[in-house]
Amino acid sequence: MKILKFGGSSLATAERVHNVVEIIESAVADGPVAVVVSAFGGVTDDLIAASATAAGGDRYEDAVAEIRDRHHTAAQSLASSGEIEKVKSSIDTVFDELGKVLHGASLVGECTPRTRDVVLSCGERLSAQLVAAALRRKGTTAEFCDARRLIATDRDFGNARVDMETTAEKLSEFFADRTATQVVTGFIAADEHGETTTLGRGGSDYTAALLGAALGADCVEIWTDVDGVMSADPRLVADAFSLPNLSYDELMELSHFGAKVVYPPTLHPARTHSIPIVIRNSFKPGFTGTRVTEQVLGNGNQVRGISSIDEVALLRLEGDGMVGLPGIAQRLFGVLASKNISIILISQASSEHSICLAVAPSSVDEAQREIDSEFELERGAGLIDPVVVETDLSVIAVVGEAMCRIPGIAGKVFSVLGQNGINVRAIAQGSSELNISLVVGRRNQASALMAIHNAFFAKPGRVEIERQRIPTAVLGATGSVGQRMVSLLADHPWFEVVEVSASQRSAGRPYRDAARWFQSTPIPESVAELEVLPVEADLEARLVLSALDADVAGETEERLARAGHLVVSNAKSHRMRDDVPLLIPEVNPDHLGLVASQPYDGGAIITNPNCSTIGLVLALKPLHDAFGLEAVNVVTMQAVSGAGLPGVSSVEIVDNLVPFIGGEEEKIESETRKILGRLEQGGIAEAGITISAQCNRVAVLDGHTECVSVKLERPATADEIIEVWEGFRAAPQWLELPSAPARPIIYDRADTSPQPRLHRDSESGMAVTIGRLRPCPLFDFKFVALSHNTLRGAAKGSLLSAELAVAQRVVPSIEWPPNGSG
Ligand code: NAP
Repeated sequence: MKILKFGGSSLATAERVHNVVEIIESAVADGPVAVVVSAFGGVTDDLIAASATAAGGDRYEDAVAEIRDRHHTAAQSLASSGEIEKVKSSIDTVFDELGKVLHGASLVGECTPRTRDVVLSCGERLSAQLVAAALRRKGTTAEFCDARRLIATDRDFGNARVDMETTAEKLSEFFADRTATQVVTGFIAADEHGETTTLGRGGSDYTAALLGAALGADCVEIWTDVDGVMSADPRLVADAFSLPNLSYDELMELSHFGAKVVYPPTLHPARTHSIPIVIRNSFKPGFTGTRVTEQVLGNGNQVRGISSIDEVALLRLEGDGMVGLPGIAQRLFGVLASKNISIILISQASSEHSICLAVAPSSVDEAQREIDSEFELERGAGLIDPVVVETDLSVIAVVGEAMCRIPGIAGKVFSVLGQNGINVRAIAQGSSELNISLVVGRRNQASALMAIHNAFFAKPGRVEIERQRIPTAVLGATGSVGQRMVSLLADHPWFEVVEVSASQRSAGRPYRDAARWFQSTPIPESVAELEVLPVEADLEARLVLSALDADVAGETEERLARAGHLVVSNAKSHRMRDDVPLLIPEVNPDHLGLVASQPYDGGAIITNPNCSTIGLVLALKPLHDAFGLEAVNVVTMQAVSGAGLPGVSSVEIVDNLVPFIGGEEEKIESETRKILGRLEQGGIAEAGITISAQCNRVAVLDGHTECVSVKLERPATADEIIEVWEGFRAAPQWLELPSAPARPIIYDRADTSPQPRLHRDSESGMAVTIGRLRPCPLFDFKFVALSHNTLRGAAKGSLLSAELAVAQRVVPSIEWPPNGSG
C-alpha cells in the first residue's frame, strides 16, 4: 500500500483537484492507496481569521459564507451530476456546526484552543469529502474518512500528542476490511471522549506517516508545490537543485534549520517503521522528487544541503567566575525551558568562560531578563557579566551524513566565508558532523549561502568555447558604451552578437558606416556588415544588452522583456523599480531573486548601476559587511567618456573642471542604498546609510576617480580595512565567469595612487583600484577609489551581470552551458 498526502497548495482550485485526482488514479492502478488531504489552499487561514473575528465580537458571517460558496462551487465542478446535491448537503452539515461554534465564540468573546480545533477541523472535513466525490466521478471507488475516529490523542488542543498504540490498533482494524480508496482528513484527531483535536500546523504530513506506519505502507508520498527538498533556498541561491535522496537525519536537520518541506514530527513514525517518505511536486507529477530513507545514499557530494534561519538573536553569558563553576549550563537551560523559550543553537568554549545561545528574536527580551535574574547573585559578586545580546543575525546549517567521513569540510566552509570577508559570530557542530551550524550577520546570509553552495556543488560557469554561443543583441550599439560592448563580445566565450540597433539616424545602414568607431581595436568583422536595426524592431536574440540612451531605453526595454527577452540595461530608466535588480555581481547577486516578481512571461530586466556608483559600491561592500557603514561622503572626478558621444565639447573641458553632472549625485546616493540593501519578501530593504555625493567632470578620457570618507559602525584599523579589500572575492570569482576579474579590488600602497591613466585598465578594466587610506578627522577613514567608467562602469560590467544571470538561469530558457549539457 501507498499513502498519498496532498497539501493545500495542491488543492487550491478545482483544476488543481482534477490534477490530484489524476495522480491518485494512476497510483490506484498500481495497487492499494490511502489518500490524506489538507484543507483547500487558504481555507485554514480563513477559518483562523473567522474565529478571531467571532471572538472579537465582530461580523464573521460574511467570511463564512464566502468559504461555503467556495466549497459549493467546487462541489459543482468536482462531483458527478447525480451526487452534487448530496455532497452539497454534507458540506452544509459541516457549515451548520461551524456556524454554531463561531456563534458560541462570539457570545463568550473568546475562542479557546478547544473551540479553535473544532473550527479548523472543518477545512479537512470539507476537502476530503470533495476529493472523494471527485474520485468517484472518475470511476474510482472512494470513501470519505474522518480521521477523528482513527487517530487518538491527548487533550492538548492545538498541538495534541498521539497515542501511538491505540491509533495503530484503530487504523489496522479500520483498514483491514476496506476495499474502497479512503480519503482521510489530515491534521485532525480526537481525544478519548471523542472531542476534536489537531496535530499542529502541517499535521497532515504526520497523519500520512501514522497511516504509513500502522499499515506497513511501501512508502508515504507527500505531494506539495516544490520539487522535493532543495540543496538550498532557491529564493536565495538561484542554482539550488532538487536532492534526489536524503536520510531521515539529514531531512530532520535541514527542516530544523529552515527547509520547511515536511512537518518534522512526520519523520518519527516513518523512521521507526522504515517507511520511505517521498516528497513530490503535484505541479510536476513526472518529476521524481526527493526520497527520504534510512540509508545515506551519496550523490557525490559530502554536503547534501544548506539551509538557513533568516533571523535569530544571540545571547552570550560570560564571566571569569564561570570557569569551573558547576551547574551554570543546567540553570541557564532550565530557566529558558521554564519559560518555553526554544534554543536554536548552543555553542560553548571549552574554557567554560562563555556560553552562547541563539533564540528567535521574539524571545530575546524575555530570555535576557530571565537569565539576568537567574544569575543576579553571581552578577552582584562580579563572577558573571550581564548577558550580551546581538541581533540581526542568521544561522546557516551545512548538512550531510557523509561529511564525517571526509576531513576538512568545516575548513572549506570557513575558508570560503573568510575569502569573502564574512565574519562568523558563533559555531556549533554535532559530534557526528552531520551538521555544521554558523551564525553570521543577517546581511551576509545570502552571500554566505551562495558562497558555500558554490564551493560544494557544481559550477555552471565552467565553459568550453566550442559550444554554440548564445545569440545576443546590442541596443545603442553605435554609442560609447555600445561600441565597447561590440568590441568585448568579439571573442566572448558565451555570447555572440547577431543583431545591433540604434536610432533612426543609423537604422538601415551597415554597422561599419553607422558607428563612428573609436575603439583601439578594429571593428569585429562579424558585426561590421550587420544592418543596424531601428530600436522598434522585433529581435531574434533572447539575450539583449542595452546601451540605449535613457530617452528611449525605458519603453524599448520593457517591450522586449514582455516579449520574453532577458534585457541587461545600462540606462537609469528601470534602476530604482522595486522589482528590478540593480546589480553589481560581486555585491548583490542575490538581488537577481527580484526577477521572480517581474510581470514578464519568460522575460526579465536587470540593470547596471550608474558608472560612479559601481566603483564606489565595490569599495564600500567589504567595509559594510565587515564593519557596518553609517555615513559616506564622496566627491567624484569623472571622465568625459561618461557623457556619451560625441562627449563634452573641448571648449568646455580643456583647462577646466565642470562641477555639475545632471542627476548624478542623486543617482549615487539612492542607488548605493538600494544595492547595499537586503533582499526581502516583496523587494529590497534599503541600507540605512547616510550618503552625500558631489560630482565633477574633469579632462580625463576614461576612468572615474572618487574621494571617499566613511563613518563605520564598528571600530576598524587601517590594516583590517586593507585586508578585507584585498581578500574580497564573490560569486563571479567562484563561478569563474568570463568577465570576472581575479581581484575585484586592488589596494595600491603608493602615495600617488590611484591615477586614471595608470590604473583604469587593471584587471582588464574590471578592478577598482584604491589608495591613500588614512584616518579622517570628520569621519573614520578616507581613501581614493578609481574605476573604468565604460568598462567596469558600463559595457563590461553589464556583460558580467549578463553572465551571472545566465549562469544562475534567471530566465530558464537562456542557459550556459546550453541545453543543460556539461
Ligand atoms: P551614447 O554614446 O550617446 O550612445 C547612445 C546610443 O543610443 C547610440 O547608439 C544612439 O544611436 C542610441 N540612441 C540615442 N537616441 C536614440 C533614440 N531616440 N532612438 C534610438 N536610439 C537612440 O551614450 P553612452 O555613453 O553609450 O551611454 C549609453 C547608456 O549607458 C546611457 O543610458 C548612459 O546613461 C548609460 N551609461 C553610460 C556610461 C558611460 O560611461 N558612457 C556609464 C554607465 C551607463 P545613434 O548613434 O544612432 O544616435
